[in-house]
Amino acid sequence: MHERRRITIQGIVQGVGFRPFVYGQALRSGLAGFVLNDSSGVTIEVEGEQGLLEAFQCALHELAPPLARVDSIAAEVVPPRGETAFVIAHSQSGSTRGALISPDTATCDDCLRELFDPADRRYGYPFINCTNCGPRFTIVQDVPYDRAKTTMRLFPMCPACQAEYEDPLDRRFHAQPNACPVCGPRVRLLDCAGHEQLHADPIAAASRQLAGGAILAIKGLGGYHLACDALNTEAVARLRRRKQREAKPFAVMAPDLETVRRFCDVSNAEAELLTSRRRPIVLLRRRPEGCLAPGVASGYHTLGVMLPYTPLHHLLLHAFATAIEPGRSPLLVMTSGNLSDEPIAYRDDDAVQCLTSISDGLLVHERAIHMRCDDSVVRVAGGGEQWFRRSRGAAPEPLQLSFDCPVPLLACGGHLKNTFCLGKGRQAFVSHHIGDLENLETLRSFREGIEHFRRLFDIEPVAVAYDLHPDYLATKYALDLELPQLIGVQHHHAHIASVLAEHGLTGPVIGVAADGTGYGTDGAVWGCEIMVADLLQFERMAHLRYVPLPGGEQAVRQPWRMAAVYLDQAYGSAFLDLPVPFVCNLDRRRWKTLDQMIARRLNAPPASSLGRLFDAVAALLGIRNEALYEGQAAIELEIIAQPSDHSYPFALDSESPALLDVAPLIRGIVDDLQWGVPLPEIAGRFHRSVAELLASACLQVRERTGLRAVALSGGVFQNRLLLEQLLGRLEELGFQVYLNRRVPPNDGGLSFGQLAIAAARLRAI
Ligand code: ZN
Ligand code: ZN
Ligand code: FE
Repeated sequence: MHERRRITIQGIVQGVGFRPFVYGQALRSGLAGFVLNDSSGVTIEVEGEQGLLEAFQCALHELAPPLARVDSIAAEVVPPRGETAFVIAHSQSGSTRGALISPDTATCDDCLRELFDPADRRYGYPFINCTNCGPRFTIVQDVPYDRAKTTMRLFPMCPACQAEYEDPLDRRFHAQPNACPVCGPRVRLLDCAGHEQLHADPIAAASRQLAGGAILAIKGLGGYHLACDALNTEAVARLRRRKQREAKPFAVMAPDLETVRRFCDVSNAEAELLTSRRRPIVLLRRRPEGCLAPGVASGYHTLGVMLPYTPLHHLLLHAFATAIEPGRSPLLVMTSGNLSDEPIAYRDDDAVQCLTSISDGLLVHERAIHMRCDDSVVRVAGGGEQWFRRSRGAAPEPLQLSFDCPVPLLACGGHLKNTFCLGKGRQAFVSHHIGDLENLETLRSFREGIEHFRRLFDIEPVAVAYDLHPDYLATKYALDLELPQLIGVQHHHAHIASVLAEHGLTGPVIGVAADGTGYGTDGAVWGCEIMVADLLQFERMAHLRYVPLPGGEQAVRQPWRMAAVYLDQAYGSAFLDLPVPFVCNLDRRRWKTLDQMIARRLNAPPASSLGRLFDAVAALLGIRNEALYEGQAAIELEIIAQPSDHSYPFALDSESPALLDVAPLIRGIVDDLQWGVPLPEIAGRFHRSVAELLASACLQVRERTGLRAVALSGGVFQNRLLLEQLLGRLEELGFQVYLNRRVPPNDGGLSFGQLAIAAARLRAI
């Protein structure tokens, strides 16, 4: 039976070698027809024997090229034309918007082989790429995805590159960033004044400088990094000093897994993430014997590690390994190139301007970065992946929704670790990491990012979802759009909805939001919320009893305030006589001011934040009174904690919503302090208690509603000890537990949750 079929394929099928793949399959089966890119993906018409057509169609699914993601294949029978050849037809002109753009992808094995092959014409060329690898999202300026619409447009291809580009059987057929040493961008090394230093091999020269202790700004894929030898104590200390404020640990880059294993334990799942095409920073458990410079991640049991993901990084690490003393491990600090609190630098003039004060030189290149994109951060916990930042290598690949957005939607996300999300049909485009919306540069990045996504994915939102916090810049932006539909979403409802939408659930479930700060429907600061939620609405079932948050934001930076507040709640003013170091060292004058603020209800909003309870206990244990960033004290509390089976008492009443009272817990800790129980044990008991407290709240909700499914989300679930203890406890009790596996549990996942809720609400109208 001879037949002709029209097959339409949707998904990430453009710019990933899909047409040559189809071409190859058709040639192999002796089928005739054509393949072309169009507005929604790829369209194929093939004719031949029915059996061959069947096999061809299966192969489309099963053998698709590595970067392709096939979301749907639809086929219909059309009249045969009696053709005998198969061709790659020109893309249909007109609108080719709506096709997906692949994320930036790590150098593939084929390119890597050529990169280190002295006989290859691209030997040592730092911009080698092909249809299976290389830059995408960060260089695309507009659609359709074509060289003329990328930052590679300034580099006309030489005849050799052009021939590869036009040959359907070549790995570089229509590889838009295709380049070689003859026609492509080049690397240059600049000194700290921004003047070019002439070297035959700038990468080798840069690595010699790094080996000698220099700090270099290095232009990568989505922005600049600051790099130095991670084993050089003095260089790392200098980098920390010059970057100021910087208290957070630095990430490092190692040339290969073998080197990583000298410093960290690496499980199979972690090795898979490290070597995946996304190449995120993976948070690994450190080995005590690794000889890392103390300043890299001092005090932390974990280390953020990534493998090289561009040819430039491969060459650099390779050259660095030969430049250092034999036997020494080649490991580079690779931290975002920015001034404190500002987003990562990605424009060359900005970088020269702001990074010359921090670095001793710059390794730059001529390919412009159109979209800034930070490294992604992920870890393995609770039996799966947990993304702390979903950005380079992951964005802008859409997440699949289990239902349609009734209209094109925009969700603006939260304030810290902002991402936004655009939705159309069943696809949700969660943006790359934008950052904390606390300065103009980040706000600009947010606005420009939204404009860019709208154009790239041809989404003209008619409804916008936003956080209820009236002061969030993202919220103000949303309201200023004056779209016909405005959908305010409560912060923790959005957290829980992000889990539901990821797992294709509609609810209702028991939602546990363990969080720092989120605006509540009563105007209070929420952050420990046990709710019954579906995608439409939520009911608050239990929460941490309110305590005042004196000074609002200031309480976040000053954990001692929370410790004093919790002691005051547990003991009244008699707490000032407690013979524990925290109280003895407490500045009475400062407490008096605080106490008056609370009494007069001056800038002391009621709060049920779990993050602040962790801060309070950390300060009470003498770990830290002042924090350089949100959650720092809580993180240090987790670091010292010795897992324990002992739990402090707490109270859960039967009101609606039920109140979780931790005054008995605070008194238990004070008793332990007086008994001289070691701090790691107290910290462990505290973690266990919070797990018990959340689990018993879930039990109470189950008794009231019969629900057995629990969704966990919120920034506090970045705490591994708490997460794993609660997970274990809930599973023991027979709950079915769902976590964020694709978007972050922190506020980076809010936009996705907001979008899911907005879509559900609009569908319900
Ligand atoms: Zn490649
Ligand atoms: Zn060339
Ligand atoms: Fe949050």
